Amino acid sequence: MILAKYSMGVGDRFGHQGRAQLQAFKTLQAAGLTVVPVWNKSFREHSIIGTQPMDVRRAADASVAAEGWTADYHVDADHISQKNVDGFIAASDFFTLDVADHIGSAASEADIKAFITRHRNLIGNHAIPGLTQPLVLTEKTLASSAQTYLHAVKEAGKLYRHIEAKKGAGTFITEVSMDETNQPQTPVEMLVILAALADENIPAQTIAPKFTGRFNKGVDYVGDVAVFAREFAEDVCVIRYAIKQFGLPSNLKLSVHSGSDKFSLYGPIAAVLKQFDAGVHLKTAGTTWLEEMIGLAEAGGKGLVVAKDVYSMARSRLDELCAPYATVIDVKPERLPSVETVAQMDGARMARMLRHVQSCPDFNPDARQFIHVAYKVAAEMGERYTDALVAYAPVVARNVRENIQERHLKPLFAGLK
Ligand SMILES: [Zn+2]
Repeated sequence: MILAKYSMGVGDRFGHQGRAQLQAFKTLQAAGLTVVPVWNKSFREHSIIGTQPMDVRRAADASVAAEGWTADYHVDADHISQKNVDGFIAASDFFTLDVADHIGSAASEADIKAFITRHRNLIGNHAIPGLTQPLVLTEKTLASSAQTYLHAVKEAGKLYRHIEAKKGAGTFITEVSMDETNQPQTPVEMLVILAALADENIPAQTIAPKFTGRFNKGVDYVGDVAVFAREFAEDVCVIRYAIKQFGLPSNLKLSVHSGSDKFSLYGPIAAVLKQFDAGVHLKTAGTTWLEEMIGLAEAGGKGLVVAKDVYSMARSRLDELCAPYATVIDVKPERLPSVETVAQMDGARMARMLRHVQSCPDFNPDARQFIHVAYKVAAEMGERYTDALVAYAPVVARNVRENIQERHLKPLFAGLK
């Protein structure tokens, strides 16, 4: 199973928006560019909402059938580890092996020594096409990278073989993710990590490093865009070089765990992809749920009442809802509107508060991030929430579709082929 050159991960927490999401991909396809949709949902999301991986598979299959989508699509077991992989085996054909927790815990002395001996020939200057300076790997960096990453890659190997034994080689796509950690991986560390992945015989088709800067959920990038762009380009070049050096899958590409809505990075990413004729997997978070809230607010009537109730119930549980996402959101309670203020808003005003249009004076990034993590409240509402999604389906779907189409797919992919 081969992952296409361009792919985008989308979330659909309540499993109602698959068709609207697909319609956005179809619009781009009609214009001549196929981006493959991948529905991703992590163990964390499943536990908070009370869904099973098979629910995502069913929703994806049904949406694809209903929309007559004929290109590839996948269901991603996002950020899985040894602890929770088994629940995803049957439903998923894309596995994101998350080994970030193992970064920094050292492999055995013997393993590290063997790795360094095996890759001693990598010490020195690498003239990598596309890079203006040679990449320099010193003996010290080889040793320190092995110390930091070898154990994590070996864990990825174990997890990969566990899945392979159950599903069969070649029947699923493998991603290795190291993004949920504080320290970005440098290009030279990337080279060492890729060598280790090849040693483990992990046929990774995507790798998700930690990039410089903050990738808060549902809002734009916080950091130096120029630094990101350079890092991204360097990683693209290192990956291409490593494919040849180590015999990794020829379609291996970067996966950007964007946390959604990194609008200021789309232009620079597209420029690099174009320059090097490279592919990418853009993983977004479950911001489709935010579009549901925006649609319900905009719909008015009972939809608006539900949206306001979610806000007020969530507001009283701020700490609890934010805690699981502490490292990937930046919500200051004093920057959130009071429950009373929101109660006074009309639907259009509430929608503008949440919709990610940075030029709009009513847009509130704190409120957006807060509602992004507040989906537990809607899950607890049960049918009251999902019935509202059904009752106001057209306006909700329009928001879902427009968001993916106009704010994500077009800015990133429309200029590519
Ligand atoms: Zn991630």
